[in-house]
Amino acid sequence: MKRNPIKKWTLRLSVTILFIMGLLAAIVLKPCVLYAHSTIDGNYTICHQQKLDPAFIEQLRGANDLLKSSELYDPALKLSVCLNDGNYYPVVMGKIRGAAFGWGFANEVVLGCNVNAAGNYGEINGYRYNLTELMAHEATHCMEFNRYGLLHSNVFGNNHAWWKWEGYPEYIARKGRADLRNNISHLLDVEKTGNNGWIYFEDSTGVVISYYKAWVMVQYCMDVRRLSFDQLLRDNGDENAVATEMMEWYKIRQSRNKHPRSNHESSKSKK
Ligand SMILES: [Zn+2]
Repeated sequence: MKRNPIKKWTLRLSVTILFIMGLLAAIVLKPCVLYAHSTIDGNYTICHQQKLDPAFIEQLRGANDLLKSSELYDPALKLSVCLNDGNYYPVVMGKIRGAAFGWGFANEVVLGCNVNAAGNYGEINGYRYNLTELMAHEATHCMEFNRYGLLHSNVFGNNHAWWKWEGYPEYIARKGRADLRNNISHLLDVEKTGNNGWIYFEDSTGVVISYYKAWVMVQYCMDVRRLSFDQLLRDNGDENAVATEMMEWYKIRQSRNKHPRSNHESSKSKK
């Protein structure tokens, strides 16, 4: 009896799709199977192709310390960190998702840049991103996934406003650069120059300006408006309205700073 060709191809297609999905799940859960080496440090499994620089572990521990300030921090969360040191996995990731310093999703951080662990930076085309802060940024995305789940994270479409989803990892990662007024002043100065879309910090690393803007807006919402990240995600405030409110706050603070004696209340209310 002749087999129905449509049924045959449907079966083959289903098996192929299941196989690919299974493979992808295995990679997401255990990406180190793709690498020559893995090194465990605390909750982190580092997947690497070449010998691991001990300085990398120090920078990763620094990133983990930054995460502890987050309301999303989960001490039981175990993450894999994949290096871009000759393995094809970050290369394929870059082809699929576009070139980036790194990606954080599910339970893994994948670095897409060339890492200089001793110098504490990742580099792409001469642009440097602080390595500790990069890993803290990407790991914060993992914490977002861990808290809100795959379907309620920004992976299949935009469940949350981009500036909140990206600004929050910057907020956690840049804890050491916490002076909001200085950060806004620096942004305004750089926007007046030919900046190529990139803004530098004092350690010669930097970030894309849109991320920097998202960071200061989240910093404003959390440190001045005192919202939690949960509250920020639920807040319906328009992005432009938040930016306008932040700039009003900034101008008032700047003028108080310039004329401290003209306002006796300022010294009492300022923190
Ligand atoms: Zn991000």
